[in-house]
Amino acid sequence: MEPFVFTQLASRMVFGAGAIRQVGDECAGLGVSRVMLVHDGAATPPAEDIAAQLGSAMVLRWHEVAQHVPVTLADRARDAATAAGIDAVVCIGGGSSTGLAKAIALSHRVPIVAVPTTYAGSEQTTIYGLTGGRHKQTGKDPAVLPRVVVYDPELTVGLPPQITGPSAFNALAHSVEALWAPGCNPVTTAIALEGVRAIHGSLPTVMAHPADVDARGRLLVGAALSGMALGATSAGLHHKICHVLGGMFDLVHADAHSVVLPHVLAFNAPALPTEMAGLAAALDVPVGDEAAALWDLAVASHVPTRLADLAGAGRPLQRDDLRAVAEAAAAEVTTNPRPVDSAELLGVLERAFDGQRPTASAAARSAG
Ligand code: NAD
Repeated sequence: MEPFVFTQLASRMVFGAGAIRQVGDECAGLGVSRVMLVHDGAATPPAEDIAAQLGSAMVLRWHEVAQHVPVTLADRARDAATAAGIDAVVCIGGGSSTGLAKAIALSHRVPIVAVPTTYAGSEQTTIYGLTGGRHKQTGKDPAVLPRVVVYDPELTVGLPPQITGPSAFNALAHSVEALWAPGCNPVTTAIALEGVRAIHGSLPTVMAHPADVDARGRLLVGAALSGMALGATSAGLHHKICHVLGGMFDLVHADAHSVVLPHVLAFNAPALPTEMAGLAAALDVPVGDEAAALWDLAVASHVPTRLADLAGAGRPLQRDDLRAVAEAAAAEVTTNPRPVDSAELLGVLERAFDGQRPTASAAARSAG
């Protein structure tokens, strides 16, 4: 076995239906008394609950949140945080709210208490992202890892199906890519495969019965494990492509993950026989069918499967856009199980654009 290093990220997890009622106590446990509460409009009702728990310890409430954390937004939120003299951030919502809280923690070095309401998984990573000039820049800093994460499956019951499915695929992408991303090792693989199992086993039930709190809980566990898998490894080819798509065209982040994941998996699978055997077992399909199984899960979960169907920055994505994406992503990828260049990435993107169902034979052909 290859030698490896695994760093356990230090974060506390509080999980359970009704766990939101513990946010105030968790803040008190951190010894903070000047809290900034970050949330968007969708999270207003549970944010009221948190505000009531915090009482006078909430010194600033911030409602403006946007995908991919525009630098201009982060700067305004940081200025407000400075003026209020905050000593902690509580964020409730999806990855966009967590992302803004991370931007503030990055500059102000204050702890975050995160209450996720989607399956994005950002709350388990030291990764932050900021977007300016059509380019999303990411980095890692231990200061942005939430000190406490409060997972309450009841908060996800109202997440609409068109957000639930792609968000679950965002989580799935963290686990699948952790099988090959730089930093992967037997520990991260175990976490990632368990994440895949939890998501694959619960997503169809959640899509059919959105109010099933138990299934929502299992999906949230899968999302937490997937976030941990991403947090303990790093972004690979798949995440780079999605970040480029998001930065250039402002596509909905989770939708891009749903479409691209089966195609990047089909591209890399031939170079990963051991990892694919584990993934096939986690997905309960024959070896060689992993990418097709993800595509089938996407179809069954009514998530987008064609880049041609995605739009952002006021217009649909065009086939002519793909070359620039392939070139930018190829420039960002430093390591991948298979050598990768922009011409091959263009092929991956074209298959994703058309929404073809990936097959084992196509993947093998593409491996040459
Ligand atoms: P999001 O936070 O923008 O949420 C998507 C939509 O769902 C929003 O309209 C939001 O208001 C709504 N919503 C959220 N929770 C809801 C609920 N319970 N009920 C009803 N509506 C609800 O998107 P996201 O997909 O959660 O996160 C995407 C962002 O997270 C991207 O910017 C991505 O780059 C980032 N991200 C970062 C990391 C990391 O490690 N840094 C990991 C994953 C994702």
